[in-house]
Amino acid sequence: MATTIPSANELKSEALQIFAKEFGENANVCVCAPGRVNLIGEHTDYNEGFVLPMALPMVTVIAGKLSHAKKCKIISLSETVGSENQVEFEANCKSIKPGEPKWANYVKGCIGNFICDVPPFNAVIVSSVPVGAGLSSSAALEVATYTFLEALTGVQSKKPEDKALACQRAEHDFAGVPCGIMDQFISVMGQEGYALLLDCKDLSTKQIPMSQINDYAFLITNSNAPHKLSSSAYCKRRDSCYEAAKRLNKKSLREVSISDIQVLQSQNVSEEMIKRTRHVVTEIQRTIDAVVALEKGDFNIFGQLMNESHNSLKNDYEVSSDELDALVTAAREIKGVLGSRLTGAGFGGCTVTLLKKDIIDKTIKHIKAKYSGNATFYIASPAMGARVLDTN
Ligand code: ADP
Ligand code: MG
Repeated sequence: MATTIPSANELKSEALQIFAKEFGENANVCVCAPGRVNLIGEHTDYNEGFVLPMALPMVTVIAGKLSHAKKCKIISLSETVGSENQVEFEANCKSIKPGEPKWANYVKGCIGNFICDVPPFNAVIVSSVPVGAGLSSSAALEVATYTFLEALTGVQSKKPEDKALACQRAEHDFAGVPCGIMDQFISVMGQEGYALLLDCKDLSTKQIPMSQINDYAFLITNSNAPHKLSSSAYCKRRDSCYEAAKRLNKKSLREVSISDIQVLQSQNVSEEMIKRTRHVVTEIQRTIDAVVALEKGDFNIFGQLMNESHNSLKNDYEVSSDELDALVTAAREIKGVLGSRLTGAGFGGCTVTLLKKDIIDKTIKHIKAKYSGNATFYIASPAMGARVLDTN
């Protein structure tokens, strides 16, 4: 069976209850922000290409209130933070610095990058986004924090893009993770029933309706295999892309067409560089084609493109793993599965599978029987982005 995903309201009740117990008063601000899954468009972001994520029903909830004390006190109920689940610090935006525990740096980074000074507050964080699984619990935490600060101070971001970019800066500067912009964009801008097309060249966005989704769902399967993507493997691929674009006198691989690959070949570059380039160029085109398919309500084509995306990530970009391949192969063996691919940077994390709703249990059972590891399953349809929840 798939993991039951608690509703945002259930998490809210838990957060409000713990807040009242810990702080002896009721919270009067409560918000949530979702994790995400990227449906197609992998390793295209740093090549100025397209990505197509959707927001998940798994969310991070923050409940809190202004404090009369000098410091902020924040408690996370996430099991992954261990015994260091509480942190106290002064909220002053100008002097706030990263420190220990590490998880609090995502929160501090949002305070440091907020629009105005933040007064001291107390807060409790509860989340249903799995941590470190590639479903972006980090962006969910940042965007929830930023949304919380907006509600607490009454000062709103002028544009959703500003908010997403401030959250990204929090992750760069305070958590020390040089992440892309997709996760924060979708966590801020997600809309129920829509995927988000993001053009990483100019950060323009388009909501893509998934109107025919009713009979279908996305099955997200966490391999629970440890991530093997070392930052050096990631940098090597990125540099290979930059080098290929340079050799073709283009600003980025976004400007490169499939016929340009012959030009690269004539320059006697390594087979590896040809393969990396081919993945990025074809993946950008697949993402464009996937949007056309969605707009027509053609999930068969969308599923095929997901399959091609995985094959390209495996064979040309070489970022899959035995575990991810095993999950994808098993899923594709079931009739009614339209497509399955790894999602995220690769070398671990999750797969995403598009399938008919009436074969979900059968598919999970089959994957479980075939997969030697211990996988976790989530069923998701495109969900809503960050929002304020009432505290009644
Ligand atoms: P992913 O974003 O794929 O889940 P990351 O490694 O980017 O994985 O981010 C995970 C980190 O984000 C955690 O190690 C922790 O520091 C922080 N984090 C995410 N959610 C929470 C939470 N609910 N409470 C505390 N820290 C969290
Ligand atoms: Mg992350």
